[in-house]
Order: sequence, then C-alpha cells, then structure tokens
Amino acid sequence: MKELPEKFLARMRADLGADYPAFLAAMEGEPWRGFRVNTLKITPEALRPLFPFALGQVEWCEEGFYYGVRAGRHGAARAGLIYSQEPSAMIAAEELGVRAGDKVLDLCAAPGGKSGQIAAKLGGHGLLVANEVAPARAKILAENLERLGVMNAAVLCMQPDALAARFPAFFDKILVDAPCSGEGMFRRDETAVHEWSPEHVRSCAERQLKILSSAAEMLRGGGELVYSTCTFSREENEGVVARFLAARSDFELISEKRIMPHTHKGEGHFAARLRRLDGPRFDRPAGKSADTSIYRAFEAESLRLRLEGSFAAFGDTLYLVPEGLGSLDGVRALRPGLMLGENKKGRFEPAHALCMALKKEDFRLSVELGDGSLDAYYRGETFPAPEGRGYAAALWNGFPVGWGKLVDGRLKNHLPKYLRG
Ligand code: SAM
Repeated sequence: MKELPEKFLARMRADLGADYPAFLAAMEGEPWRGFRVNTLKITPEALRPLFPFALGQVEWCEEGFYYGVRAGRHGAARAGLIYSQEPSAMIAAEELGVRAGDKVLDLCAAPGGKSGQIAAKLGGHGLLVANEVAPARAKILAENLERLGVMNAAVLCMQPDALAARFPAFFDKILVDAPCSGEGMFRRDETAVHEWSPEHVRSCAERQLKILSSAAEMLRGGGELVYSTCTFSREENEGVVARFLAARSDFELISEKRIMPHTHKGEGHFAARLRRLDGPRFDRPAGKSADTSIYRAFEAESLRLRLEGSFAAFGDTLYLVPEGLGSLDGVRALRPGLMLGENKKGRFEPAHALCMALKKEDFRLSVELGDGSLDAYYRGETFPAPEGRGYAAALWNGFPVGWGKLVDGRLKNHLPKYLRG
C-alpha cells in the first residue's frame, strides 16, 4: 500500500470506529475503474457487441459499468459512446434527479464526467451550463462534451461569484462537485496523498463553503442542488453542509449519501441533496440572433435535417444556442452552445462538434471506416472512397467520428489537428 499520512489514518480511525480495519484493508486493494454508456448515442444493450469489456453494472447508475482496462483509444470512446468515469463519482449526477427540460448548472465541471451524465439525462431537452474556472481544464471539458455529442450545453469559464452575478435564481438544478482534498483518490493518485494535510482539508472546506454560497444564489425557489466531493473528511462534507444550512434558512437538507471503499465497489464519494424553499425565479434577457444563410446553404447540401432554435455568431463562428440561455453579455463563454462551423470568406466549414452531435442518417454522405482504419483516420490519413462530392461523415460502426471531404474518389481527412495522433 502507498504510505498514507499518519494524521489521515488517525482521523479515519476515530471516525470509523469498528469499521476502521475493513477500511484499511480496502485501501490496500486495487482501485475500481468504470465507464458510463452515453445514452445520447447508444443504449447499453446496443453497445455490448461493440465494446466487450463490460464486467458488471454499477449499483447506483443504470448506465455505469466496471471494467479493467483503459479504453481511451477504443472506437467506442472515440465515437463518444462511452466515457471513462470512476464508478462512485456517478452517484452525484444521479442524486440531482435531472429531468428532460430542466435548466441545469454544473458549476465545477471539468473534465466533464458529470456534465456528460447530466446531458444524457436531459436527452437534448433543456439547458446545461457547464462551468469550469481553470481555462485549460475548460478546454478539455468542451472537447469531452463535443465528443459525447451534447447539443444543448454552453461551456463557461467563470469564477462562481462572477457567474452568480449573471445568473441569479435561474437554474432548476445545480451540481457543485467541489474541489476537495481528494482522499477518495488515494488508491489511484500518488499526488493526492502527497498534497494531503490537515491544513489542506481546512482550506478546502473554506473554499467549498464559498463556492456553495455562490451556487445557492443561482438556484430558483423550489430548485435542487447537489453538493459532492471525492473525499472522506467530515469537515469538507457534512461539516460544509451544516455550516451552509446554518447560514441559509431558505435551504433544507433532503439527504446525504456516502460511497466508501470498504462498503461499496467504488473509490469514495459524498453527495448531499439540498432544496431551496420558495424564492425568486428569474429568466434571462434574450440574446441577439445571427444570420444563418450560409449555414442553411451548407445544411441543405450536406445534411438531411434542419436545426431549429436560436443561433448566435461570435466572430466568424456560428453556434446553436440552448433554449433559455439568453444573452451572454459579460459572460466568459468557451462555447455558447453547439459549435456549428465557421464562415470562411463566404464558404461554410462545419465544426467537428456538429459532426459528433449528429447521427449517421443525418448526413447525405458518409464513409464507414471499420475497426481497421480508425487509427489511420486519427493519424490524419486519406482514404479511397465511393463516388460523391462534398462533406461526409467518417463512421466507426455507424457512429460519426469526424468530417472528411469526398473529392475524386478519395476521402480527405478533416479531423481537427488537435485530435490527431
Ligand atoms: N465534476 C468534474 C467531473 O465530473 O469531471 C470534476 C470536478 S473537480 C472535482 C473540481 C473542479 O473545480 C476542478 O476542475 C477545479 O479546477 C475546479 N475549481 C478549483 N477551484 C475552484 C473554485 N475556487 N471555484 C470553482 N471551481 C474550482
């Protein structure tokens, strides 16, 4: 076992009492790994023949499964059919009880496991605002949501208090998956062990309370909020919730749940459900709408569907903006919605995100790569292809993985450079 801090062990011994030996034994075991099936694209049943690594279902998440290998380069991952996620982390979005049509905020969202899970529950109806304060991590979040084919999300990069000033009493549901001391990461991440100290736990708790207070301002009266961490410390879990409730008489506690490595098949998570009692509910002012004519020309030529909704242009880039999001004046947005593409001097170049959000039958042209050619596609290679001209979807087992362009019997590769390799 990794050398665990003596003060951490002493605290766990005091907290767990008779259960401490079982906890200690569990900490010597191998970490659990898992993945979630992205039901925006496929059902668990339909996935099975394409991705035969599923070992068993996660008890608290119908779409969650255990597996023992890394799958990032597998076609199922590249096509956005699955997302690797530590099994116990799946509890937080489950507790949020998202329904199609909800306006949901994921306040600490990168790299996006829980945002993807929320988006699947929305099923394309309603709004997801996925916010991440660290710009580099927000970029990864945007890429992950694109791969998962999420159409109704905006990716923002804001401090929680600045976001609260823009979205007062707006969301129906909010997830605060707070930065924490990461004791539930100890089995799989040595740095979490090295960074741990009682002072770190204390400073995490202070930061969590601040983040939670900003989140509270953004929840509508009657709305629900889940506060979660991947740590065991009471100070950061029940302690933060108790301090928050003492300061906010307009909130009530619905439940607190813990996944622990000695009682469940998972690394450890805490999730508290809170409800805001009657209170204000605000909508947002509408944003400006954009000229869509060159997108419509591309759509008529290359696609078999017509996207409906609000469109917004930022520079030369056109987005489909989720319903109800409203004006983004003063908001730092990496993605104000689904990126559709760019106006390149009057010619429309479709975005990778658009391809990943569509289904095989939505494209006029498509080319099946099969298992053998997927790596070559990812290296940026060109393929012989049937006759036809124009933008075509490259498919893995019928699922889009990126654009290509058919010219003279060849499929020219249009996978973005940053995804190659
Ligand atoms: N929910 C994510 C998922 O499922 O993939 C994991 C989120 S991680 C536990 C916490 C996130 O909070 C990190 O991405 C971190 O950058 C961000 N964070 C750090 N400090 C923050 C702050 N002061 N306010 C808001 N978020 C912060």
